[in-house]
Amino acid sequence: MGASVAKGFAIAAEWRTRDLRSVWHPCTQMREHQSDLLPLIPIRRGEGIWLEDYNGKRYLDAISSWWTNLFGHAHPKIAEAIAQQAGQLEHVLLAGFSHAPAIELAERLLARAPKGLSKVFYADNGSSAIEVALKMSFHSHRNQGDMQRHRFVTLSNSYHGETLGALGVSDIPLYRRTYAPLLLQPMFAPSPDTWHALPGESGQACAERAALALDELLQKHGQETCALILEPLIQCAGGMRMYHPHYLRRARQLCDHHGVHLIADEIAVGFGRTGSFYACEQAAIRPDLMCLSKGLTGGALPLAAVLCTQALYDAFLDDSRERAFLHSHSYTGNPLACAAALAVQDIFDSEPVLQQNKTTAERMAVLAAPLVELPWVADVRQTGMVLAIELAAECRRPLNAAHRTGLRAYQHAISQGVVLRPLGDVLYWMPPYCIDADALERLANVTRDAIIVATNGL
Ligand SMILES: *Cc1c(COP(=O)(O)O)cnc(C)c1O
Repeated sequence: MGASVAKGFAIAAEWRTRDLRSVWHPCTQMREHQSDLLPLIPIRRGEGIWLEDYNGKRYLDAISSWWTNLFGHAHPKIAEAIAQQAGQLEHVLLAGFSHAPAIELAERLLARAPKGLSKVFYADNGSSAIEVALKMSFHSHRNQGDMQRHRFVTLSNSYHGETLGALGVSDIPLYRRTYAPLLLQPMFAPSPDTWHALPGESGQACAERAALALDELLQKHGQETCALILEPLIQCAGGMRMYHPHYLRRARQLCDHHGVHLIADEIAVGFGRTGSFYACEQAAIRPDLMCLSKGLTGGALPLAAVLCTQALYDAFLDDSRERAFLHSHSYTGNPLACAAALAVQDIFDSEPVLQQNKTTAERMAVLAAPLVELPWVADVRQTGMVLAIELAAECRRPLNAAHRTGLRAYQHAISQGVVLRPLGDVLYWMPPYCIDADALERLANVTRDAIIVATNGL
């Protein structure tokens, strides 16, 4: 081993030790790091699709650092925009004050949003955006004299974040079960997820079946419902489960019929991820509230935005403070984050991102097609720049959980310099848009090997 590599190992080991002494990591059983089952990886730098550790080993970030990164790490245009803004105004409270980046970003987000969304409320992370949308919906009904509406409808297998309100409208047992006594009690409508299609049933027919169930639910409970919240086209944390846009059109109609708001959580799927700029566009619908975060700043800084209709906004205009929307976070509309988001908008304006993504998505499809032949691969599905490979036993039953297939796949991929972080037994590719053909091929090869290694002995 060369001297510099040995030094790299020593530096990484030192950071690891110090980390475990002081840091508590998200979404992690910390014991696994202590036992070396899952060694923590200190990252020194990032560039494009690559993350680099202290040994100089590079990792292909196939999951865009939890779906935030659109154009690669340490993107020069985004870094420059943040640096410029930092030298001018790092932050000012957004109550009573304003600043050019927040104003300009609101204008530009609205210009690209479904027609009819006309105001932007900022927050600083995805879960907070969901809290804002839920409270806004509830409060606007009250402001209009409708005091009956106090419940929400959400879809089975949905995920909207992990603060109590956002978790309350989420349905993933791993996250929800423990905190259930603390949570809102939403009504759950069946997911239109094509995975649940009956034999021979099309994606659209499956979506229609779910829409009929939603119709029934709203006929019974529409009067007490504030809003239906959903993730357009892909239930991401729920295992990259995908559904036909027909459901969105039907959900829009049903919400209109029952005076229920439609909240589109585009936090993971917005900004070109699904093939269109927003996923909602594929059904040509306008939600009443649309939540954005993750890719909003290209993965550089935390920021979120809730876009709403003029009617919703107008419901809060009054002489009384109580009718105002008093929700606030200290860093609401932070100028640095807004500057990063503006740089992202510039990239969309100056480069044919969606067109390039189409080519990249086609490459992904071709490379993933042979994976269907592997044992335990039950489904390979794709929507734009999201491709998922679901492993399952016969008749789509879950794999033996004790085998820890997903963890094994993760470990193998990491050893090969690829960050795959399966959701249970679902492996997926959700790479930064700048991933090139060579890197994709490597990703496909490592994924194939990871599946073979991980399922061995099942
Ligand atoms: C990640 C995510 C959230 C929560 O965003 P955070 O910034 O992690 O709080 C909400 N909804 C969806 C669909 C997400 O993917």
